[in-house]
Amino acid sequence: MAKEKENEIMEKIVSLCKRRGFIFQGSEIYGGLAGTFDWGHFGVALKNNIKQAWWKKFVDGRRDMYGIDAAILMSSKVWEASGHVAGFSDPMVECQKCKRRFRADQLDPNLQEICPECGGKLGEPKQFNMMFQTKVGAVEDSSSVAYLRPETAQGIFVNFKNTVDAFHPKLPFGMAQIGKAFRNEITPRDFIFRQREFEQMEIEYFIRETDWEKYFEYWKEQMSAWMEECGFDMTKIHELEVAPEDLAHYSKRTVDFEFDYPFGRKELFGLAYRGSFDLSNHKLEYVDEENSDPSTGSGQGKMVPHVIEPTFGVDRAMLAILLSAYNEEDPERPFLKFKPSMAPVICAVSPLLKNKPELVEYANAKVYAMLKNEFGRVAWDDNGNIGKRYRRQDEIGTPWCIVIDFDTLTDDSVTVRDRDTGTQERVKVSDLVSYIKNKLN
Ligand code: ATP
Repeated sequence: MAKEKENEIMEKIVSLCKRRGFIFQGSEIYGGLAGTFDWGHFGVALKNNIKQAWWKKFVDGRRDMYGIDAAILMSSKVWEASGHVAGFSDPMVECQKCKRRFRADQLDPNLQEICPECGGKLGEPKQFNMMFQTKVGAVEDSSSVAYLRPETAQGIFVNFKNTVDAFHPKLPFGMAQIGKAFRNEITPRDFIFRQREFEQMEIEYFIRETDWEKYFEYWKEQMSAWMEECGFDMTKIHELEVAPEDLAHYSKRTVDFEFDYPFGRKELFGLAYRGSFDLSNHKLEYVDEENSDPSTGSGQGKMVPHVIEPTFGVDRAMLAILLSAYNEEDPERPFLKFKPSMAPVICAVSPLLKNKPELVEYANAKVYAMLKNEFGRVAWDDNGNIGKRYRRQDEIGTPWCIVIDFDTLTDDSVTVRDRDTGTQERVKVSDLVSYIKNKLN
Protein backbone atom coordinates (compact mmCIF):
# COMPACT_ATOMS: atom_id res chain seq x y z
CA MET A 1 0.00 0.00 0.00
CA ALA A 2 1.36 3.44 -0.84
CA LYS A 3 2.52 5.40 2.23
CA GLU A 4 0.04 8.24 1.66
CA LYS A 5 -2.90 5.87 1.42
CA GLU A 6 -1.81 4.11 4.63
CA ASN A 7 -1.66 7.41 6.51
CA GLU A 8 -4.98 8.41 5.04
CA ILE A 9 -6.75 5.32 6.40
CA MET A 10 -5.29 5.78 9.87
CA GLU A 11 -6.25 9.46 9.81
CA LYS A 12 -9.80 8.54 8.82
CA ILE A 13 -10.07 5.96 11.60
CA VAL A 14 -8.59 8.29 14.24
CA SER A 15 -10.88 11.12 13.19
CA LEU A 16 -13.97 8.89 13.08
CA CYS A 17 -13.15 7.53 16.54
CA LYS A 18 -12.95 11.03 18.00
CA ARG A 19 -15.86 12.58 16.12
CA ARG A 20 -18.24 9.72 16.83
CA GLY A 21 -17.29 9.17 20.45
CA PHE A 22 -15.17 5.99 20.36
CA ILE A 23 -11.69 7.09 21.47
CA PHE A 24 -10.24 10.36 22.79
CA GLN A 25 -6.69 11.37 23.68
CA GLY A 26 -6.09 10.95 27.44
CA SER A 27 -6.09 14.23 29.45
CA GLU A 28 -6.86 16.03 26.18
CA ILE A 29 -8.00 19.39 27.56
CA TYR A 30 -4.59 19.75 29.25
CA GLY A 31 -2.65 19.00 26.07
CA GLY A 32 -2.84 15.20 26.34
CA LEU A 33 -0.78 12.60 28.19
CA ALA A 34 1.25 10.57 25.69
CA GLY A 35 0.42 6.89 25.46
CA THR A 36 -2.97 7.19 27.18
CA PHE A 37 -6.48 7.20 25.72
CA ASP A 38 -10.00 7.66 27.06
CA TRP A 39 -12.91 5.65 25.74
CA GLY A 40 -16.18 7.27 24.73
CA HIS A 41 -19.61 5.64 24.82
CA PHE A 42 -19.21 3.66 21.57
CA GLY A 43 -15.59 2.78 22.31
CA VAL A 44 -16.57 1.31 25.67
CA ALA A 45 -19.36 -0.65 23.96
CA LEU A 46 -17.01 -2.10 21.33
CA LYS A 47 -14.39 -2.92 23.95
CA ASN A 48 -16.99 -4.60 26.16
CA ASN A 49 -18.22 -6.65 23.20
CA ILE A 50 -14.67 -7.85 22.50
CA LYS A 51 -14.10 -8.75 26.16
CA GLN A 52 -17.47 -10.46 26.50
CA ALA A 53 -16.93 -12.52 23.33
CA TRP A 54 -13.58 -13.62 24.75
CA TRP A 55 -14.91 -14.47 28.21
CA LYS A 56 -17.86 -16.32 26.72
CA LYS A 57 -15.71 -18.52 24.50
CA PHE A 58 -12.75 -19.14 26.78
CA VAL A 59 -14.26 -19.08 30.27
CA ASP A 60 -18.05 -19.50 30.35
CA GLY A 61 -18.00 -21.82 27.36
CA ARG A 62 -15.56 -24.27 28.95
CA ARG A 63 -15.41 -26.61 31.95
CA ASP A 64 -11.67 -26.30 32.57
CA MET A 65 -11.18 -22.54 32.97
CA TYR A 66 -11.17 -20.44 36.15
CA GLY A 67 -11.49 -16.65 36.13
CA ILE A 68 -9.44 -14.30 38.24
CA ASP A 69 -9.34 -10.53 38.70
CA ALA A 70 -6.10 -9.69 40.50
CA ALA A 71 -4.94 -6.33 41.84
CA ILE A 72 -3.12 -3.96 39.50
CA LEU A 73 -0.70 -2.88 42.24
CA MET A 74 1.55 -5.83 42.98
CA SER A 75 4.37 -6.38 45.45
CA SER A 76 7.88 -5.83 44.14
CA LYS A 77 8.66 -9.42 45.22
CA VAL A 78 6.37 -10.73 42.47
CA TRP A 79 8.34 -8.86 39.82
CA GLU A 80 11.70 -9.84 41.28
CA ALA A 81 10.70 -13.53 41.12
CA SER A 82 9.25 -13.22 37.61
CA GLY A 83 12.43 -11.67 36.23
CA HIS A 84 10.80 -8.35 35.32
CA VAL A 85 12.83 -6.15 37.72
CA ALA A 86 16.04 -7.44 36.17
CA GLY A 87 14.95 -7.95 32.59
CA PHE A 88 11.77 -6.17 31.51
CA SER A 89 13.52 -3.52 29.49
CA ASP A 90 13.93 -2.18 25.98
CA PRO A 91 17.11 -0.66 24.52
CA MET A 92 16.85 3.13 24.51
CA VAL A 93 18.92 5.82 22.80
CA GLU A 94 18.82 9.55 23.51
CA CYS A 95 19.52 12.32 21.01
CA GLN A 96 22.40 14.44 22.28
CA LYS A 97 20.92 17.53 20.62
CA CYS A 98 17.11 17.52 21.15
CA LYS A 99 17.13 15.00 24.07
CA ARG A 100 14.30 12.97 22.54
CA ARG A 101 14.41 9.25 23.32
CA PHE A 102 13.84 6.34 20.94
CA ARG A 103 13.73 2.57 21.04
CA ALA A 104 17.05 1.51 19.54
CA ASP A 105 15.58 -1.62 17.94
CA GLN A 106 12.92 0.38 16.11
CA LEU A 107 15.25 2.81 14.34
CA ASP A 108 16.06 2.58 10.65
CA PRO A 109 19.01 0.12 10.56
CA ASN A 110 20.82 2.32 8.01
CA LEU A 111 20.52 5.46 10.14
CA GLN A 112 21.23 4.04 13.61
CA GLU A 113 23.22 7.01 14.90
CA ILE A 114 21.07 9.85 13.58
CA CYS A 115 18.05 11.32 15.39
CA PRO A 116 14.96 10.81 13.19
CA GLU A 117 13.48 14.06 14.57
CA CYS A 118 16.29 16.64 14.42
CA GLY A 119 19.20 14.86 12.69
CA GLY A 120 21.38 15.20 15.83
CA LYS A 121 23.77 12.49 17.03
CA LEU A 122 22.28 9.63 19.05
CA GLY A 123 24.05 8.39 22.20
CA GLU A 124 24.87 4.78 23.13
CA PRO A 125 21.89 2.41 23.74
CA LYS A 126 20.98 1.85 27.42
CA GLN A 127 18.51 -0.65 28.88
CA PHE A 128 15.35 1.08 30.08
CA ASN A 129 13.03 -0.80 32.47
CA MET A 130 9.44 -0.29 31.39
CA MET A 131 7.67 -0.94 34.68
CA PHE A 132 5.87 1.90 36.46
CA GLN A 133 7.13 2.00 40.01
CA THR A 134 5.18 3.57 42.85
CA LYS A 135 5.25 3.75 46.65
CA VAL A 136 2.54 2.21 48.76
CA GLY A 137 1.64 3.58 52.21
CA ALA A 138 2.74 6.56 54.24
CA VAL A 139 6.34 5.47 54.87
CA GLU A 140 8.68 5.79 51.93
CA ASP A 141 11.43 3.21 52.06
CA SER A 142 12.52 0.28 49.92
CA SER A 143 9.82 -1.95 51.46
CA SER A 144 7.07 0.37 50.18
CA VAL A 145 8.06 -0.08 46.50
CA ALA A 146 5.31 -1.62 44.36
CA TYR A 147 4.72 -1.81 40.62
CA LEU A 148 1.72 -1.35 38.40
CA ARG A 149 1.62 -4.72 36.66
CA PRO A 150 3.19 -4.72 33.17
CA GLU A 151 1.22 -7.88 32.26
CA THR A 152 -1.79 -9.64 33.70
CA ALA A 153 -0.06 -13.04 33.60
CA GLN A 154 1.68 -12.73 36.96
CA GLY A 155 -1.66 -11.94 38.64
CA ILE A 156 -2.70 -15.41 37.47
CA PHE A 157 0.45 -17.23 38.61
CA VAL A 158 0.42 -15.73 42.11
CA ASN A 159 -3.17 -16.96 42.50
CA PHE A 160 -2.41 -20.47 41.25
CA LYS A 161 -2.38 -21.99 44.76
CA ASN A 162 -5.52 -20.11 45.83
CA THR A 163 -7.35 -21.40 42.78
CA VAL A 164 -6.14 -24.98 43.19
CA ASP A 165 -7.09 -24.96 46.89
CA ALA A 166 -10.51 -23.47 46.21
CA PHE A 167 -11.56 -25.47 43.15
CA HIS A 168 -9.33 -28.61 43.07
CA PRO A 169 -8.99 -28.59 39.26
CA LYS A 170 -7.41 -31.57 37.47
CA LEU A 171 -4.74 -31.07 34.77
CA PRO A 172 -5.07 -29.74 32.16
CA PHE A 173 -6.88 -26.61 33.31
CA GLY A 174 -6.59 -22.89 32.75
CA MET A 175 -6.91 -19.58 34.50
CA ALA A 176 -8.08 -16.47 32.65
CA GLN A 177 -7.93 -12.78 33.36
CA ILE A 178 -8.94 -9.56 31.65
CA GLY A 179 -7.43 -6.37 32.98
CA LYS A 180 -5.21 -3.34 32.65
CA ALA A 181 -1.46 -3.52 32.18
CA PHE A 182 1.02 -0.64 32.27
CA ARG A 183 4.30 -0.20 30.42
CA ASN A 184 6.38 2.94 30.28
CA GLU A 185 6.90 2.54 26.53
CA ILE A 186 9.79 4.66 25.24
CA THR A 187 7.86 5.70 22.13
CA PRO A 188 4.10 5.15 22.39
CA ARG A 189 2.71 5.47 18.87
CA ASP A 190 0.35 4.37 16.14
CA PHE A 191 -2.83 5.46 17.93
CA ILE A 192 -3.95 2.73 20.37
CA PHE A 193 -1.43 0.18 19.07
CA ARG A 194 1.33 1.08 21.52
CA GLN A 195 0.11 2.70 24.70
CA ARG A 196 1.43 3.10 28.23
CA GLU A 197 -1.84 1.92 29.77
CA PHE A 198 -3.68 -0.84 27.97
CA GLU A 199 -5.74 -3.94 28.53
CA GLN A 200 -4.93 -7.61 28.13
CA MET A 201 -6.92 -10.83 28.04
CA GLU A 202 -4.67 -13.66 29.10
CA ILE A 203 -4.92 -17.38 29.71
CA GLU A 204 -2.42 -19.57 31.49
CA TYR A 205 -3.20 -23.15 30.56
CA PHE A 206 -1.55 -25.63 32.93
CA ILE A 207 -0.47 -28.96 31.46
CA ARG A 208 1.87 -31.89 31.92
CA GLU A 209 5.18 -31.25 30.19
CA THR A 210 4.79 -34.17 27.78
CA ASP A 211 1.60 -32.62 26.37
CA TRP A 212 2.96 -29.21 25.46
CA GLU A 213 3.12 -29.61 21.69
CA LYS A 214 -0.43 -30.92 21.50
CA TYR A 215 -1.84 -28.01 23.53
CA PHE A 216 0.27 -25.44 21.72
CA GLU A 217 -1.36 -26.48 18.43
CA TYR A 218 -4.77 -26.64 20.09
CA TRP A 219 -4.54 -23.06 21.39
CA LYS A 220 -3.25 -21.78 18.06
CA GLU A 221 -6.44 -23.08 16.48
CA GLN A 222 -8.62 -21.71 19.28
CA MET A 223 -7.11 -18.24 18.88
CA SER A 224 -7.73 -18.23 15.12
CA ALA A 225 -11.29 -19.47 15.61
CA TRP A 226 -12.04 -16.63 18.05
CA MET A 227 -10.64 -14.02 15.65
CA GLU A 228 -12.82 -15.34 12.88
CA GLU A 229 -15.90 -15.28 15.11
CA CYS A 230 -15.24 -11.64 16.01
CA GLY A 231 -14.92 -10.46 12.42
CA PHE A 232 -11.16 -9.92 12.05
CA ASP A 233 -10.14 -9.77 8.38
CA MET A 234 -8.40 -13.16 8.32
CA THR A 235 -6.53 -12.29 5.11
CA LYS A 236 -4.60 -9.74 7.18
CA ILE A 237 -3.65 -12.17 9.95
CA HIS A 238 -0.30 -13.96 9.75
CA GLU A 239 1.46 -16.37 12.07
CA LEU A 240 5.09 -15.67 12.82
CA GLU A 241 7.25 -18.36 14.38
CA VAL A 242 9.51 -16.32 16.67
CA ALA A 243 13.18 -17.22 16.08
CA PRO A 244 14.96 -18.84 19.06
CA GLU A 245 17.31 -15.85 19.49
CA ASP A 246 14.30 -13.47 19.72
CA LEU A 247 12.32 -15.46 22.30
CA ALA A 248 11.41 -13.76 25.61
CA HIS A 249 13.46 -14.96 28.60
CA TYR A 250 10.65 -17.28 29.78
CA SER A 251 9.59 -18.77 26.45
CA LYS A 252 10.53 -22.07 24.79
CA ARG A 253 8.35 -21.46 21.74
CA THR A 254 6.32 -18.42 20.67
CA VAL A 255 4.06 -17.79 17.73
CA ASP A 256 3.00 -14.18 17.18
CA PHE A 257 -0.25 -13.50 15.41
CA GLU A 258 0.48 -10.44 13.29
CA PHE A 259 -1.95 -8.10 11.59
CA ASP A 260 -1.45 -5.97 8.47
CA TYR A 261 -2.02 -2.55 10.04
CA PRO A 262 -1.73 0.43 7.69
CA PHE A 263 1.60 1.22 9.42
CA GLY A 264 2.99 -2.27 8.80
CA ARG A 265 2.66 -5.93 9.74
CA LYS A 266 2.90 -5.96 13.52
CA GLU A 267 2.04 -8.09 16.54
CA LEU A 268 -1.61 -8.47 17.39
CA PHE A 269 -1.59 -11.39 19.85
CA GLY A 270 0.90 -13.97 21.04
CA LEU A 271 1.02 -17.62 21.99
CA ALA A 272 3.90 -18.76 24.18
CA TYR A 273 5.04 -21.97 25.77
CA ARG A 274 6.44 -20.72 29.08
CA GLY A 275 7.55 -24.13 30.39
CA SER A 276 7.47 -24.18 34.20
CA PHE A 277 9.39 -20.91 34.42
CA ASP A 278 6.83 -18.88 36.38
CA LEU A 279 5.47 -21.48 38.79
CA SER A 280 9.03 -22.62 39.56
CA ASN A 281 10.18 -19.05 40.22
CA HIS A 282 7.23 -18.48 42.57
CA LYS A 283 8.01 -21.86 44.19
CA LEU A 284 4.55 -23.20 43.49
CA GLU A 285 3.67 -26.86 43.07
CA TYR A 286 0.75 -29.07 42.25
CA VAL A 287 -0.20 -32.54 43.43
CA ASP A 288 -0.94 -34.55 40.31
CA GLU A 289 -3.01 -37.39 41.77
CA GLU A 290 -3.34 -39.18 38.45
CA ASN A 291 0.43 -39.43 38.11
CA SER A 292 1.12 -40.13 41.75
CA ASP A 293 3.78 -42.83 41.83
CA PRO A 294 5.86 -42.99 45.02
CA SER A 295 8.10 -45.64 43.39
CA THR A 296 9.50 -42.98 41.06
CA GLY A 297 10.31 -40.79 44.05
CA SER A 298 8.25 -38.01 42.53
CA GLY A 299 7.07 -36.87 45.96
CA GLN A 300 3.62 -38.43 45.81
CA GLY A 301 2.62 -36.74 42.64
CA LYS A 302 4.09 -33.34 43.45
CA MET A 303 5.11 -31.61 40.26
CA VAL A 304 5.31 -28.21 38.62
CA PRO A 305 2.87 -27.92 35.72
CA HIS A 306 4.01 -26.41 32.46
CA VAL A 307 2.11 -23.57 30.84
CA ILE A 308 0.79 -22.55 27.44
CA GLU A 309 -0.07 -18.85 27.34
CA PRO A 310 -2.46 -17.42 24.75
CA THR A 311 -2.35 -13.63 25.20
CA PHE A 312 -4.59 -11.05 23.57
CA GLY A 313 -4.37 -7.25 23.68
CA VAL A 314 -7.84 -5.70 23.91
CA ASP A 315 -6.75 -2.43 22.32
CA ARG A 316 -4.89 -4.01 19.41
CA ALA A 317 -7.93 -6.26 18.90
CA MET A 318 -10.10 -3.15 18.78
CA LEU A 319 -7.86 -1.41 16.26
CA ALA A 320 -7.71 -4.53 14.06
CA ILE A 321 -11.50 -4.93 14.22
CA LEU A 322 -12.02 -1.26 13.32
CA LEU A 323 -9.61 -1.60 10.38
CA SER A 324 -11.20 -4.90 9.29
CA ALA A 325 -14.66 -3.33 9.39
CA TYR A 326 -13.83 -0.02 7.69
CA ASN A 327 -15.42 -0.03 4.26
CA GLU A 328 -15.20 2.84 1.79
CA GLU A 329 -16.03 1.05 -1.45
CA ASP A 330 -18.62 3.79 -1.90
CA PRO A 331 -16.74 6.99 -0.94
CA GLU A 332 -20.09 8.73 -0.39
CA ARG A 333 -21.00 6.16 2.23
CA PRO A 334 -18.05 4.92 4.30
CA PHE A 335 -19.24 2.49 6.92
CA LEU A 336 -18.05 0.09 9.61
CA LYS A 337 -19.05 -3.42 8.61
CA PHE A 338 -18.87 -4.90 12.10
CA LYS A 339 -20.20 -8.36 12.82
CA PRO A 340 -23.63 -7.44 14.28
CA SER A 341 -22.71 -8.95 17.66
CA MET A 342 -19.67 -6.60 17.85
CA ALA A 343 -21.47 -3.40 16.83
CA PRO A 344 -21.66 -0.74 19.56
CA VAL A 345 -25.29 -0.12 18.55
CA ILE A 346 -27.37 -3.10 17.43
CA CYS A 347 -30.18 -1.05 15.95
CA ALA A 348 -31.40 2.54 15.75
CA VAL A 349 -35.06 3.51 16.06
CA SER A 350 -36.37 6.54 14.14
CA PRO A 351 -39.79 8.14 13.82
CA LEU A 352 -40.01 9.28 10.16
CA LEU A 353 -40.77 12.86 11.26
CA LYS A 354 -39.88 14.23 14.62
CA ASN A 355 -42.61 16.88 14.63
CA LYS A 356 -45.45 14.34 14.34
CA PRO A 357 -46.32 13.40 17.93
CA GLU A 358 -48.26 10.27 16.88
CA LEU A 359 -45.15 8.84 15.16
CA VAL A 360 -42.83 9.86 18.00
CA GLU A 361 -45.18 8.41 20.59
CA TYR A 362 -45.51 5.07 18.75
CA ALA A 363 -41.76 4.82 18.05
CA ASN A 364 -40.88 5.58 21.64
CA ALA A 365 -43.46 3.55 23.55
CA LYS A 366 -43.94 0.55 21.27
CA VAL A 367 -40.61 0.06 19.51
CA TYR A 368 -37.72 1.79 21.25
CA ALA A 369 -38.77 0.76 24.78
CA MET A 370 -39.24 -2.86 23.70
CA LEU A 371 -35.90 -3.13 21.85
CA LYS A 372 -33.99 -1.19 24.50
CA ASN A 373 -35.29 -3.55 27.13
CA GLU A 374 -34.30 -6.57 25.06
CA PHE A 375 -30.94 -5.56 23.57
CA GLY A 376 -29.71 -2.55 25.57
CA ARG A 377 -27.45 -1.28 22.78
CA VAL A 378 -30.25 0.52 20.92
CA ALA A 379 -30.11 4.14 19.73
CA TRP A 380 -32.85 6.73 19.33
CA ASP A 381 -32.23 8.86 16.25
CA ASP A 382 -34.69 11.54 15.10
CA ASN A 383 -32.29 14.20 13.87
CA GLY A 384 -32.24 15.37 10.23
CA ASN A 385 -33.73 13.54 7.29
CA ILE A 386 -33.78 9.76 7.02
CA GLY A 387 -30.83 9.65 4.58
CA LYS A 388 -28.68 11.56 7.05
CA ARG A 389 -29.71 9.26 9.88
CA TYR A 390 -28.71 6.21 7.83
CA ARG A 391 -25.29 7.76 7.06
CA ARG A 392 -24.76 8.52 10.74
CA GLN A 393 -25.61 4.99 11.80
CA ASP A 394 -23.54 3.48 8.97
CA GLU A 395 -20.52 5.41 10.16
CA ILE A 396 -20.66 3.82 13.61
CA GLY A 397 -21.54 0.40 12.15
CA THR A 398 -25.16 0.00 13.28
CA PRO A 399 -26.46 -3.08 11.39
CA TRP A 400 -30.16 -2.12 11.30
CA CYS A 401 -32.16 1.11 11.20
CA ILE A 402 -35.84 0.85 12.06
CA VAL A 403 -38.22 3.52 10.81
CA ILE A 404 -41.73 4.18 12.10
CA ASP A 405 -43.88 5.85 9.42
CA PHE A 406 -47.57 6.66 8.89
CA ASP A 407 -48.35 3.12 7.68
CA THR A 408 -47.03 1.79 10.99
CA LEU A 409 -49.94 3.47 12.77
CA THR A 410 -52.39 1.26 10.89
CA ASP A 411 -50.46 -1.94 10.06
CA ASP A 412 -48.15 -2.21 13.11
CA SER A 413 -45.19 -2.84 10.79
CA VAL A 414 -41.90 -0.95 10.50
CA THR A 415 -39.21 -0.58 7.85
CA VAL A 416 -35.93 -2.30 8.68
CA ARG A 417 -33.01 -1.08 6.60
CA ASP A 418 -29.88 -3.23 6.33
CA ARG A 419 -26.50 -1.49 6.72
CA ASP A 420 -24.54 -3.68 4.29
CA THR A 421 -26.99 -3.95 1.40
CA GLY A 422 -29.12 -0.84 1.91
CA THR A 423 -32.20 -3.02 1.34
CA GLN A 424 -35.41 -2.39 3.24
CA GLU A 425 -37.92 -4.84 4.60
CA ARG A 426 -41.30 -4.45 6.32
CA VAL A 427 -41.42 -6.32 9.62
CA LYS A 428 -44.30 -6.64 12.12
CA VAL A 429 -43.52 -4.88 15.39
CA SER A 430 -44.50 -8.06 17.23
CA ASP A 431 -41.82 -9.98 15.25
CA LEU A 432 -39.03 -7.43 15.62
CA VAL A 433 -37.24 -8.98 18.61
CA SER A 434 -37.07 -12.45 17.07
CA TYR A 435 -36.17 -10.97 13.66
CA ILE A 436 -33.11 -9.24 15.17
CA LYS A 437 -32.20 -12.19 17.39
CA ASN A 438 -32.16 -14.51 14.38
CA LYS A 439 -29.87 -12.17 12.48
CA LEU A 440 -27.59 -11.70 15.49
CA ASN A 441 -27.05 -15.43 15.73
P1 ATP B 1 5.54 -5.55 21.33
O1 ATP B 1 6.65 -6.44 20.82
O2 ATP B 1 4.64 -5.01 20.25
O3 ATP B 1 6.02 -4.51 22.31
P2 ATP B 1 5.11 -7.56 23.28
O4 ATP B 1 5.62 -8.79 22.58
O5 ATP B 1 5.97 -6.91 24.27
O6 ATP B 1 4.58 -6.51 22.19
P3 ATP B 1 3.45 -9.04 25.03
O7 ATP B 1 4.33 -8.82 26.20
O8 ATP B 1 3.46 -10.37 24.38
O9 ATP B 1 3.72 -7.91 23.94
O10 ATP B 1 1.97 -8.61 25.44
C1 ATP B 1 0.84 -9.36 25.09
C2 ATP B 1 -0.14 -8.55 24.24
O11 ATP B 1 -0.43 -7.31 24.88
C3 ATP B 1 0.42 -8.16 22.88
O12 ATP B 1 0.25 -9.22 21.95
C4 ATP B 1 -0.41 -6.95 22.54
O13 ATP B 1 -1.68 -7.34 22.01
C5 ATP B 1 -0.64 -6.30 23.89
N1 ATP B 1 0.29 -5.18 24.11
C6 ATP B 1 1.57 -5.27 24.51
N2 ATP B 1 2.12 -4.05 24.64
C7 ATP B 1 1.15 -3.16 24.33
C8 ATP B 1 1.09 -1.73 24.29
N3 ATP B 1 2.12 -0.99 24.63
N4 ATP B 1 -0.07 -1.14 23.93
C9 ATP B 1 -1.15 -1.89 23.59
N5 ATP B 1 -1.16 -3.24 23.61
C10 ATP B 1 -0.03 -3.88 23.98
